[in-house]
Amino acid sequence: MATKKCLRSTCRGKPRQTRITETYKRKGSPVVVTIRNIPAVICAACRFTTVDDETFTEIERLLGIFQKSDPAWPPAKVELDYKLAARVKQAA
Ligand SMILES: [Zn+2]
Repeated sequence: MATKKCLRSTCRGKPRQTRITETYKRKGSPVVVTIRNIPAVICAACRFTTVDDETFTEIERLLGIFQKSDPAWPPAKVELDYKLAARVKQAA
């Protein structure tokens, strides 16, 4: 995904590729999932960060595995590396 300018219409900043770490909590799930090395695009000016649709879908899939809405699951913290866990092909 090549983004030429910031998704914020009022911003003139240039986005660049980066890797981010995000922690996800889901209502009804006692499991907190942290995913490292998520490919993202960050604006150099306003720090607005976005992930593409493919990445978003993959994150949702990973969260779906661990964050069952099942109160029988014990509280837990899960840490994943996106590069290792994701099924999508990473751009070289
Ligand atoms: Zn911006």
